[in-house]
Amino acid sequence: MKLKSLVINGFKSFADKTQIDFQAGMTAVVGPNGSGKSNIIEAIRWVLGEQSAKSLRSGKMPDVIFAGSSERKALNRAAVEITFSNLDRYLPINEDEVVITRRIYRNGDSEFLLNGKNVRLKDITDLMLDTGLGKESFSIISQGRVESIFNSKAEDRRTILEEVAGVLKYKKEKQKAQQELSQTAQHLNRVADIVSELS
Ligand code: ATP
Repeated sequence: MKLKSLVINGFKSFADKTQIDFQAGMTAVVGPNGSGKSNIIEAIRWVLGEQSAKSLRSGKMPDVIFAGSSERKALNRAAVEITFSNLDRYLPINEDEVVITRRIYRNGDSEFLLNGKNVRLKDITDLMLDTGLGKESFSIISQGRVESIFNSKAEDRRTILEEVAGVLKYKKEKQKAQQELSQTAQHLNRVADIVSELS
């Protein structure tokens, strides 16, 4: 799986539609302070399902929409589209390319698309879980995060290692199965009560 391109349209300082094509090897983004370098990384986190406006340095989610400048009116919609090459079928989708789109409107309405089809946020987070690109993944390390990882509690560091090793997904599935088992046990108890009342 390779990051192929990113299209940012109306997100933060990117009032105009901007396409970044990532070439093989390393890409470096350079520019003066405040020119929007971090906004590119935030666009990637946002399109992959980031739910915390605060962690995107915004008050509320619609604040990620271009807020206007001395020369330009504010916009009413932000959209980000990310394209991964999936020739190796790393993502469990039988397509050579996986395109994820997220849009948000001023009234707070938002939508996700996966290869052009409307999907839920959960579909995106499930798809990204354990790819190393998920919500809490460590492929995107923001300023200050390194320190916070070093200073975190042992259990929290364990969660980090589990995410990196790809076991978090199975832990979540196990939790869900355990909940279902306990619900089923409760139902069985209830059935046993009813049977004993009737007999
Ligand atoms: P530095 O090198 O200082 O870290 P940077 O290149 O990473 O800077 P960013 O932090 O990505 O820059 O961009 C900050 C700029 O984005 C600021 O000028 C800010 O006004 C602008 N900006 C942020 N949100 C919005 C928005 N919703 N609408 C318009 N502009 C925005």
